[in-house]
Amino acid sequence: MSEVAELRRNVVSALDWIEQRIDDAIALRRDLHRYPELAWNEHRTAGRVAELLETWGYRVTTGIGGTGLVGTLTRGDGARAIGIRADMDALPIVEASGLEFASATAGRMHACGHDGHTAILLAAARYLAEQGDFSGTVHLIFQPAEEIGQGARAMIADGLFDRFPCDAVFGLHNWPGLPAGKLGFVDGPAMASVDWIGVKIVGKGGHGAAPHETVDPVVVAAHLVTALQSIVARNVAPLDSGVVTVGSIHGGEAANVIPDSVELTLTTRSFAPEVRETLLRRVQALAYTIAEGFGAHAEVQLKRGFPSVVNHPDETAFARQVARDLLGEEALIADLPPRTASEDFAFMLEARPGSFLFVGTGEGEPLHSPRYRFNDDVIAPAAAFWARLAETWLR
Ligand SMILES: [Zn+2]
Ligand SMILES: [Zn+2]
Repeated sequence: MSEVAELRRNVVSALDWIEQRIDDAIALRRDLHRYPELAWNEHRTAGRVAELLETWGYRVTTGIGGTGLVGTLTRGDGARAIGIRADMDALPIVEASGLEFASATAGRMHACGHDGHTAILLAAARYLAEQGDFSGTVHLIFQPAEEIGQGARAMIADGLFDRFPCDAVFGLHNWPGLPAGKLGFVDGPAMASVDWIGVKIVGKGGHGAAPHETVDPVVVAAHLVTALQSIVARNVAPLDSGVVTVGSIHGGEAANVIPDSVELTLTTRSFAPEVRETLLRRVQALAYTIAEGFGAHAEVQLKRGFPSVVNHPDETAFARQVARDLLGEEALIADLPPRTASEDFAFMLEARPGSFLFVGTGEGEPLHSPRYRFNDDVIAPAAAFWARLAETWLR
C-alpha cells in the first residue's frame, strides 16, 4: 500500500471506528447532561472522566487547579506532546429543553454544551488509546469553571504546562447557527476580550428645587454616558473594533430630590489587545475628568475579565489541514468571522501556541438559552478530528 493509501485508510478508519461506538459516547453525553455541575463543583463529572480514562489506560492526574484533571497517554519514543482541552461546567439556568434526559437538578443546566465537549474529547481518548497510531504524548485537559472565567487560569497557576508540557494546545466550542458537523477556523483573534467596570459618581444631594446648592450626579452621569460613545468613534482606529456598553444606571428615588450618587456598570469588548487597553484607559479617564469638571468625583472599579482568544497562525493552519484531510474541504466553514463572545481558553493560548475552533451544530437555540440543545450528531466528526489532530501532530 502506498503511503498515501495507507494514510487514507487511517483517515477513514478514525471516523468509522468512532462512529461504530457512537452510542456509548452519546449515552455518556446525555448522562453528563442529566447531572450538570456548576463551576468548581464538577466532582461527579471529573470522577466519570477519570474513571473512563483510567479504564482505557491513561495516567490520570486529578485536582489540578481545583476540579481539573489531565489524562496522559504516551506511545513510542516521540518527544513531541499535544494538549487538547475540554471544559466540564454547567450554568445556573432552569432547563426548558423538554429533553427526556434534561437536568435532574433544578437551576443547573448544560446550556453551553460543555457536556458535549467532554463527550467529544472522551470519544477521541478512547480511539487514541485503542487504535491511536502515534509516537509521543497526548495530554487531555479537562477544565473546570470556564463559565466564570477562572478554570483555565487556575489550572495554569497550578503548573498545568510545567507538569504536562505541551508543544501546542487546542480547544473547541460548539456553535448553534453554523452548519452541523462543519468546522470553523479563525486566524488571529477569534473571540473577544471582556472586562467589567463599575463607576460611582459621587456628588452632593439636596432639594430638587435648589439645584445650585447641590452637585447633581444625575447630570454628571448623563454627560458621562454620552461622552463614552466617543471612545469607539474617536479613539479606536476605523478598521479595529470595540464595544463600550453601559448596561445599568441607578440613582435617585424621587422627582424632587437630587441624590448623592449615581452608579453605572459597563462592559467593554474588543479583539486586539491594544484596543482592550485603550477602552479601559479612556473609560476611566472620562469618568474621572467629567466628574471633576462638574465638581463631583468618580470612584471606578475595574474587573478585568479575559483577554481575547488569539489563534496562532501555524497551529491554526495545521488544524485546518487536518480537518480538510479528514472531512474534506466542504466540511470547513469558509471565511468564518470572529465571535464576540468570550472564552477563558484565551489564557491557554497566552501560555502556549495553539488554536481554538468552532464546530457547527445546525439551527437551534443559542448558547446559554434555557431551550438550548446540543446536537449529538457532531460528536463523531469532532472526536475524529481531535484523534487525527493528535495522530498527525505526533506522527
Ligand atoms: Zn458558556
Ligand atoms: Zn461554553
